[in-house]
Amino acid sequence: MIDYRQLSKIELHCHLDSSVRISTVAEIGKELGLSLPDPIETGLVAPETCMDLADYLRRIDLALEVMQQRKHLIRIAREFVEDLSADGVVYGEVRFAPQLHMREGLRLQEVVEGVNEGLAEGARATGVHVGLILCCLRHESAESSLAIARLAAANANSVCGIDLAGDEARYPGTPHRAAFDLARDAGLRRTVHAGEARGAESIQEAIEVLGAERIGHGVRIEESPKVLEYVREHAIPLEMCPLSNYQTRAVSSLAGHPIDRLLRKNVCVTVSTDARTVSQTTVTSEFERLEKLFDWGWDEFLHCQRNAANGAFVSSATRSRLLGMLTR
Ligand SMILES: [Zn+2]
Repeated sequence: MIDYRQLSKIELHCHLDSSVRISTVAEIGKELGLSLPDPIETGLVAPETCMDLADYLRRIDLALEVMQQRKHLIRIAREFVEDLSADGVVYGEVRFAPQLHMREGLRLQEVVEGVNEGLAEGARATGVHVGLILCCLRHESAESSLAIARLAAANANSVCGIDLAGDEARYPGTPHRAAFDLARDAGLRRTVHAGEARGAESIQEAIEVLGAERIGHGVRIEESPKVLEYVREHAIPLEMCPLSNYQTRAVSSLAGHPIDRLLRKNVCVTVSTDARTVSQTTVTSEFERLEKLFDWGWDEFLHCQRNAANGAFVSSATRSRLLGMLTR
């Protein structure tokens, strides 16, 4: 088996609140006097398969409780970058929804500053380059999403893009159009979770209505040959997260995951974790799993990583540097 850990890797899709170290939740939780589940993993780690995406997302509730103070956001963001480094990730994009971190009085701007401070500390210590994406949430109002887009625009020096996350099965993307228009006009990049809990029509909506430049997951894209062909032709990257996609039941088995078929059709697929803690995974172990499942090797690894470099929300100079790091 290829030693993926040693290889320089890029990750495009990972949620900060789903990737908090278990030991850190335990430590801060104790400090805050929270009543923690025993064992604590039951509150933070998803079972092999959840009932659905909403069930999977409930594993984030406890982590959010320890992410309400500036010092804790700094620590968690710094540790996240250290974890990327240990995984061999040289460029990682991390996303989170700032509006979920205001329970103890932090303002949106303070939340972003706290996370940025931790990411910068981690980057200085490890040399990992990190991009920050702010998430709008599907169940929230158009006005809330606009506030997130404005926040991203006001922090464009440290935020590379916006995302739409949350319960795709029950909430369409169209109401969030104004936020995505604002982000585009501010020069921010756009990605949208789609084709995970709903079908290919949701991917089409993300591209046509929200101007998505990348699609989070997109595992159900084969349901529409037309959408599939559009995404292939325009090389729109799919941020696929195989283990998470199985756990949320977006695919019924890992062996049936479309990533291998899509790669063979020259669709721009990439490999990420989605949730390092909730799914107990790393980019290293995602590629190990793909090697076992589909007999992937160097060609597939480098192909996906080049796709990721080409789809990263970075400057052209950084993109060239990243492409240069991807070697055997
Ligand atoms: Zn996600």
